[in-house]
Amino acid sequence: MQFQPIVRPNVDPKRHQRTLLRIVLVVMFVFSVLIGSLNVFLFQAYQVGTYNFISAAASVIIWFYYQATRNLKFASWLLTFAVIFNLSAFIVSAKGAAYSIIWVTVLPPLAFFLLGRRAGSWVTGIAFVATIAFLIINLPDLPVLAFTTGTILNITEVLIILWLIFRFYEGSRQSAYQELERLSVVDKLTGLYNRAKLDDLLEANIHLSSRTSLPLVVMLLDIDHFKRINDQYGHVEGDAVLQQVAVTLSKRVRSTDVLGRWGGEEFLLICPATRLSEGLQLADMLRQHVADDIKRATDPLTLSIGVTEVCRQIQPNDVIRQADSALYKAKNSGRNRVVHFTEERPVT
Ligand code: GH3
Ligand code: MG
Ligand code: MG
Repeated sequence: MQFQPIVRPNVDPKRHQRTLLRIVLVVMFVFSVLIGSLNVFLFQAYQVGTYNFISAAASVIIWFYYQATRNLKFASWLLTFAVIFNLSAFIVSAKGAAYSIIWVTVLPPLAFFLLGRRAGSWVTGIAFVATIAFLIINLPDLPVLAFTTGTILNITEVLIILWLIFRFYEGSRQSAYQELERLSVVDKLTGLYNRAKLDDLLEANIHLSSRTSLPLVVMLLDIDHFKRINDQYGHVEGDAVLQQVAVTLSKRVRSTDVLGRWGGEEFLLICPATRLSEGLQLADMLRQHVADDIKRATDPLTLSIGVTEVCRQIQPNDVIRQADSALYKAKNSGRNRVVHFTEERPVT
């Protein structure tokens, strides 16, 4: 058999943390080298300069460690310690001058994002206690706060960094939420709408059709003798067939149609603004395309399709019952065919 499973993008839930780790490492490296050079060559502040170069070296080591191992957790811890070392070295060597203490505020967003809620809370809590202790111990020697250029620079830099981190934070929260929303309506195997979403969309389309008086066609499409495929080729091949059918069907329906996996090897198609005759044509075309597109070593893959037209306010369950009853007839009359629902009137 030559069924090709669809390659679905595998979204890494930790991708934002990985990106942030890399960004912070690059920023820390560039920043440390620049400031370190200024401190050593311009201000002859060798002690602070040494700290800067240690930070630059640390960011390079963590970068290579992460590239080699992909161990996000350990790399995040290393980075958090490097950031704490950087901040402490800066604050301690500035002896509280120029409002340098404000740099502590960049730690919480980084630590929470990289380490998670629990570890982030501990690291931040300990860092804050240490900050207060530093202030209390150095109280007699702390300089009177003067708004010099250095103070303004410190505040501005911290504000920009906080703005960038929170912007990144919110972006990742939004994309995680969107991903969650998508997953809640999508069938994992085929990428089509799942049963829950189909229920909602069917109800909405019935309401819309009764308000606008536009016809609505609903059909259930069931793969014939699907169990045999599983039995003969295995479940994995069976899954690949379901994916292929999903691709073929979604390529052929209109953008206004709603296609989803109703369950197992059954698909539901809702066609708004469609008359029964058009629906029957579409169903037959889909049946033929599936048979043409999905070749098997032996027989073609066939579908039985039950079609119903909804023209008045009717419960979604009844629409499904109608499509199901037509599908049942299609199965019983030889499969590989399209049958539309007709009201069975009791003979009097
Ligand atoms: P019919 O022509 O009467 O519809 O026969 P059928 O074999 O297609 O129908 P039946 O209901 O007897 O069997 C459906 C099979 O679909 C049984 C089940 O194992 C298989 N199936 C359901 N969901 C999945 C799935 O997600 N993956 C795979 N590989 N098989 C599935
Ligand atoms: Mg079935
Ligand atoms: Mg079947």
